[in-house]
This record gives sequence, structure tokens and C-alpha cells, in this order.
Amino acid sequence: MWNVTRPEFSAKETYEICISKVKNRDLKKRLNVVSSSIVEAAKDYAERAENAELHLVSQSDGVVGLVTTKEMVAVYDGRMAVQRGPGRSIYDKLKALPELGVCPFCDHGPVSTLDHILPKSLYPVLAVTPDNLVGSCKDCNTAKLTAVPTCERDATLHPYFDDISAERWLGASVVEKNVPAVTFHSIPVDSWPDALNARIRKQFRVLGLGLLYASQAAREISGQREDLIRIFDARGADGVREELEHKAETWRAYRLNCWQAATYRALSESPWYCGGGFQRR
Ligand SMILES: [Zn+2]
Repeated sequence: MWNVTRPEFSAKETYEICISKVKNRDLKKRLNVVSSSIVEAAKDYAERAENAELHLVSQSDGVVGLVTTKEMVAVYDGRMAVQRGPGRSIYDKLKALPELGVCPFCDHGPVSTLDHILPKSLYPVLAVTPDNLVGSCKDCNTAKLTAVPTCERDATLHPYFDDISAERWLGASVVEKNVPAVTFHSIPVDSWPDALNARIRKQFRVLGLGLLYASQAAREISGQREDLIRIFDARGADGVREELEHKAETWRAYRLNCWQAATYRALSESPWYCGGGFQRR
């Protein structure tokens, strides 16, 4: 849900490097013949992605009846993703694109794999297309699995093409009970199309971001208790609120929609928390 700089590798060079060491003559010939189809499909993909129309990309069984899905998946698995495969250096460079090595889908887990935005089993022609491959953590990769968009509203947000960093869409609320806790939700942005808000809502749910961020926030709340007790003793509830506002501002400057910014904003806006709720455990 966070954008990543689009890769510079072309679909053509990536595909050609991946198939460069195929020894079976029949397979090599067929893989060479479909090269132009791979390039065309990549061009179509980029145009669709730029217009939030990935749901209009056609699925196919194999590539133009010459290369099977299994063979294309093998090009990715055995020639790009595998250590020492001819395409592995491109695989590694794509994996390195997300900032700080953090998964752009959840903004939390370490990037450990490449995710096919459109799954290779259903879109074999895009199996090694760089625009379709995004560094991701294992959990997000598993949660997405072979999700196929059927309409604009349920298309995965694409880190290379969709930028939702300018407006605040991640909200948090303080649970003012015995032990303070924070829950998270997505907020629809008025100036954005309904379909974009629906995509954010869906992805937030599918990736389980609410639970993930709530557990992180719980640790953060526990870790800052002693600090806040000291501030409260010296400056009272206003002092605590100012401290939390300062932290919210610092995190917002880094990333508007990170869970930390949402957490500190919600905590600073809770008179219950600032007035002593922070001490409960
Ligand atoms: Zn992730």
C-alpha cells in the first residue's frame, strides 16, 4: 500500500536473460518465438496498471499456444528466482527496490520474496515481467496468494503505479478500557474515487493490517509507560498530550500513513489516555 520506484528493467531484456541458458532446442525455439508476445503483454500491462485497469488484463492458458503455463512458471522458478539462475541478478535487484527492505504492502515485514501482482499460474505471459513483480514479505505474499481482480474495486494496489501517500487513509482509535489499546481502520478519502477507497479497504482487510498494527501499537504503549509517568508527574496531562502530539508529528513527517503516526495521533486525542489511562496495565 506504499509506493515503490518502478523498475528500470525492460520485459524484453529480463525475459531474454532468463531464457539465455535453455539447452533443450525445441523449448528454446518456442521460447524465442513467443518473445514478442511477452513484450506486447508487458506493454499492455503497464498501460492498464497506469489507469487502474489491471482487472481488464486477460488470463491465458500458456503463451499463444506455443509455450505452456508450466513451462513459463518454470522459467520464473528455475531461471529467475533460483540461486545462480541467469535471471537471479534481476530478481535480487527487484527485491531491493522497496525502501529500507520493508514490505510495501504492509509497511512492516522484511522483503523476502517477489510477489506476482497478477499470478503467474493464470497470467503466464507475465511470469517474469518486472512491472508485475514486487518485493514483499512472506505473510503478504501468502495472504494475496492467487487473488485475481474481477473489477476495479478489488484490484490489488500496485506499489509501482498507485500512490496513496498524499492523503490520510489510516485511522486509529483508542480503546479506553482497563488496559489501553489501539484499533486501526481505513478512512475513505473524499477527494479520491470510490473504487480507490474500496481497494484500500479491501487490501487492509485481506492483509490483516488491523491486527498487525494493533499488536505493534500494544508493544509501543507498554514500552512508553514509564516515560509518560515521568512526564505526567512533572507536567500533568497537558505535558503527556504535548509529548504524544510531538511524536505523531515526527512520524507523520516520515510517513503520513504509518501505524506509528496513526497511533500517536489517536493517543494524543484521548483525554482518558493522557489523563492517566497510559498507566494501566
Ligand atoms: Zn508485508
